[in-house]
Amino acid sequence: LPQEFELARPVLQTIEQAGYEAYFVGGSVRDTILGKSIHDVDIATSAYPNEIKALFKRTVDTGIEHGTVMILDHGTGYETTTFRSESTYTDFRRPDQVTFVRSLAEDLKRRDFTINALAMRENGEVIDLFDGLSDLQNQQIRAVGNAQERFHEDALRMMRAVRFASQLDFTIVPDTLAAITAHAQLLDKIAVERTQVELLKLLTGKTPQRGLTDMLATGLWQYCPDFADHETALQELATALTQGVSSETAAWTLLVTKFGLTATAITPFMKHWKTANQMINAVQTTSKTAALLGQGDLNAWQLYQCGAPLIATANEIAVILGAPDRLATLTDRLAALPIQHKKELAVTGKDLMQAGIQPGPQLGAILGDLEYQVVTGAVANKRADLVAQAMI
Ligand code: ATP
Ligand code: MG
Repeated sequence: LPQEFELARPVLQTIEQAGYEAYFVGGSVRDTILGKSIHDVDIATSAYPNEIKALFKRTVDTGIEHGTVMILDHGTGYETTTFRSESTYTDFRRPDQVTFVRSLAEDLKRRDFTINALAMRENGEVIDLFDGLSDLQNQQIRAVGNAQERFHEDALRMMRAVRFASQLDFTIVPDTLAAITAHAQLLDKIAVERTQVELLKLLTGKTPQRGLTDMLATGLWQYCPDFADHETALQELATALTQGVSSETAAWTLLVTKFGLTATAITPFMKHWKTANQMINAVQTTSKTAALLGQGDLNAWQLYQCGAPLIATANEIAVILGAPDRLATLTDRLAALPIQHKKELAVTGKDLMQAGIQPGPQLGAILGDLEYQVVTGAVANKRADLVAQAMI
């Protein structure tokens, strides 16, 4: 058992000694069997939330209405969820009602894919009610039960299927793939934020070309915000992603570049995807810099404007698009610039006002010009020199 499970064993033992059942479930069981590292340990139990809370000194109600309580043990938090069955999905997402049950089988039945419906006892014994082990062995993604019904219940599962195909390099079995094709349109009903999470996991996964090919084959792509006109670009993106990308910023940058979006088009596009402003700003910078790298090298000012935190991403995308890898020299040149950031400029607006320059938009323009002159080496980054330069 991995270290994370070993550490969690006493938690499961405490629950069992009180007469309830407790199992490791979800992604951590799947990833352990695959020999991959795991990030969080999920526990499923027959104990009700109040019963769990009575057993442990320190718990947090992280999602008590869904039956989830976090148990804090030796500095680690364990999400512990009461076995539940879900019923009557009327809006193609999330169940109308969560019913706590005492049966593990009921709980596993509501899970999305067979590889995600495995449970593991505290001693490592695996409970496999839906042939998840053989699907893991054969590297297959298969819906638990009737695929048509499962995607009709919760349309997000379709995006989860293509994201796992990418992350695990697995094949979606024909029956499950056909059900996605039949229900792709229901993705419309899902909050964009949730679709975005799955898309990014797909794009930053191990074999994104696989997940994207599945999105294209099933028609899921058509129900993603602002994707409608970009079928060819998505095919090209799939090819470009054969080597994978190292971050979400890189993924977005490659996507907007392949879509041929201009700087003005990038912001509304990403806003439709409900992306954070910080990510939009980063992608504006990296896409612009990657395009410049595609045309040749960067001058000092262009390099400075991109900045150290984003230069590796810009270079990564430029390389994917066919430019030579210039990361080492770009990093060295960046480090050798007189300043790395506006705040390192040896003069402030206050200094300039004291020297007699009037406040207002003009002051900002003068500061911007001084910044440019320092970066390009025209003026030394010394206060006296800069004030003198400003007075010219
Ligand atoms: P990851 O490694 O990305 O965390 P995961 O399989 O653990 O993958 P989670 O979103 O953390 O995915 O969900 C934990 C478990 O809950 C899943 O393994 C699955 O059993 C179940 N699950 C999650 N989302 C759904 C869903 N939409 N429908 C059915 N079961 C789901
Ligand atoms: Mg998980």
